[in-house]
Amino acid sequence: MICLGIESTAHTFGIGIIDSNGKVLANVIDGYKTKSGGIVPNKAAEHHVDVCDKTIKKALDNANLTIKDIDLISYSASPGIGTCLRIGAMAARSLALLHNTPIIGINHCIAHLEIGRLLTNAKDPVLLYASGANTQIIAYEGEKYRVFGETLDIGIGNFLDSFARELEVGFPGGPLIEKYASKGKKYIELPYVVKGMDISFGGLLTNLKQKIKSGNHKKEDLCYSAQETIFAMLIEVSERALAHCGKNELLLGGGVACNKRLQEMAEQMCKERGAKSFAVPNQFNVDNGLMIAWLGLLQYKAGDRVNIEKAGIDPYRRTDQIKVTWR
Ligand code: AMP
Ligand code: MG
Repeated sequence: MICLGIESTAHTFGIGIIDSNGKVLANVIDGYKTKSGGIVPNKAAEHHVDVCDKTIKKALDNANLTIKDIDLISYSASPGIGTCLRIGAMAARSLALLHNTPIIGINHCIAHLEIGRLLTNAKDPVLLYASGANTQIIAYEGEKYRVFGETLDIGIGNFLDSFARELEVGFPGGPLIEKYASKGKKYIELPYVVKGMDISFGGLLTNLKQKIKSGNHKKEDLCYSAQETIFAMLIEVSERALAHCGKNELLLGGGVACNKRLQEMAEQMCKERGAKSFAVPNQFNVDNGLMIAWLGLLQYKAGDRVNIEKAGIDPYRRTDQIKVTWR
């Protein structure tokens, strides 16, 4: 069975194609970019409309398939920006209707975890999901993927992108900050905000804005200090989740998981407690259609079905509201 997955929760329009043995057939990503400022929801949606046909075509070409070879259409139904989600759902419904293909809508956050289980040796990991809009510590307990900790305000990627904007270094901020951070030497004291299992970035961003304005610090040192602080916060709550759940695998996912320093800190923490840390290749860390296709297949094989009339979106549906039928 071959599934085509459509990702459109935020800035990325992605098409992935995978078969039921987990063989990756295509993964094409087209991102909406801005010169300044963050995501304007209707502009991102316009981008998705513009690139939709050519991205689907490119993925099919890369897989050496035609749409007739596709047995299942899967799309991100939750969570995300409504105007963006709607484009993916509409593309999915059109394909399903035209080609009489079954359709399934899935949860984007869970897809990050399931693609990690497919592509690494992790069997039952705690997922540190660090992306643009989301920052959550997720693990499987009692037939659900439970959220053990999360950001109380903005996602870590949005924090990095806002910080980069203040530094006037460009967008997306994460990789640029990583580059400057590698040249930083001096640790500058910053607020470290962990509240139980949750974290928060808002105060830290305000503090950094003040430090940039003061002109007393080198850009490299600020980037270095910001990374060390926010990643330590993530690693602390991840470690507590591992201990609480009695699990010994940590999986990194989301665009921020591309960061080598975060990967290194995760490895070190895991090593110290006899656990193992896993990360997938970058093209599967960032938002992508492949993970959507894979979770669609898992759910379909477990018997989940959606009528095309009910194949809608649910922008606010949370990870822990989904009943896990496939494990
Ligand atoms: P996603 O929403 O999962 O597609 O991830 C996008 C986010 O990942 C953006 O906020 C980027 O700034 C961030 N990002 C991408 N690469 C890196 C990196 N190497 N280090 C830190 N953040 C990154
Ligand atoms: Mg994501």
